[in-house]
Amino acid sequence: MLKNFFHKKKRYATIPSERSKKDIPEGLIVKCNKCHKITFAKELEKNYHVCPHCDHHLTVSAPDRVRMVLDDGNFFEYDTDLISTDPLNFEGYINKLEKDMEKTNLNEAVVTGEGTIGGYPVVIGVMDSRFRMGSMGSVVGEKITRAIEKALVKQYPFILFSASGGARMQEGILSLMQMAKTSAALAKLHEKGILFISVLTNPTTGGVSASFASLGDINIAEPNALIGFAGRRIIEQTIRQKLPDDFQTSEFLLKHGQLDMIVHRKDMRKTLIKLIDIHQVKGGM
Ligand SMILES: [Zn+2]
Repeated sequence: MLKNFFHKKKRYATIPSERSKKDIPEGLIVKCNKCHKITFAKELEKNYHVCPHCDHHLTVSAPDRVRMVLDDGNFFEYDTDLISTDPLNFEGYINKLEKDMEKTNLNEAVVTGEGTIGGYPVVIGVMDSRFRMGSMGSVVGEKITRAIEKALVKQYPFILFSASGGARMQEGILSLMQMAKTSAALAKLHEKGILFISVLTNPTTGGVSASFASLGDINIAEPNALIGFAGRRIIEQTIRQKLPDDFQTSEFLLKHGQLDMIVHRKDMRKTLIKLIDIHQVKGGM
């Protein structure tokens, strides 16, 4: 009986997305960081945060991304209570976390949860580069791992949007450990034949690119995103060679077999629906 009671609860709640809208006061203009031309924020929002002048894909917050991708922006968020601690007593870390929490209204650099897309239930994770540059500490790794485990139990496809500067230095080895933890969880998903679509957005670098972001059954990137492990200068100094201009871009990676496709942001939702649709196993997944 108790079980029935809980089942009657509304399955999906709307994420508190209004807050991020308030970040853009009426009439404010946004300058493209590529072509430097200006656009009205409202117009930019309608255009999926893609510059109408040069097609540059600007940074998208996790709540905006969820709204753009899922049905009607309906979404049930997981683990909103997980907050990072300061295991290494790293100077200023807690202060920085608190500032980012206030700035973004998020508890950490990734939002995870479940919702539907084109009517298909999915588990989704979206990283937010506004929070500590989307770096992966213990909480980011834990939230992603728990989301993967939910997808495993529910047998829902898992979609993850990455945007990250890599492992979080303020948590040292504990951050690096998240690479192994998330990868091990994904291996279980793979064994069960559950679809994982990884979407790499600008930028996806360091430990995130070197773990779950590259482990999709299908790896998609947004156009012209910076994707790589170490920075260009470090690699050039190490190998003592000049790297090509388009090195570490989505287009370069696609050409060299590291990506399956590059998808424009305006086509992302329909592409994801199509991919999930083709991977449905009739009579249950
Ligand atoms: Zn532009």
